[in-house]
Amino acid sequence: MEPRIKKIGSFILLFGLVLFILSLQIKSNLLYTPYILLIIGFSMLAYSAINTREEKSVLCRMGLHKFEMIGWDDEINSRSIYKCKRCRVKKKVFRGV
Ligand SMILES: [Zn+2]
Repeated sequence: MEPRIKKIGSFILLFGLVLFILSLQIKSNLLYTPYILLIIGFSMLAYSAINTREEKSVLCRMGLHKFEMIGWDDEINSRSIYKCKRCRVKKKVFRGV
């Protein structure tokens, strides 16, 4: 659902921008329509940005995952598998024996 909001938001924003430029050039009486569209577009983009941030922790976005060991790799014995508690990103780490 979120990518769609972002898509529609950027579309409205673009549309508002085009109307804004047009209204400057042709001096038509669009009144506040471009401004309203710009505000709606911006708020939709902001809404989607806030929601994606909540989905994935700020720390994880910066690369500071909270890894915990979940097991050993089947292929290579000296490789252990870690998984992030927050976003479920996996990584494999070699362990010197
Ligand atoms: Zn993470």
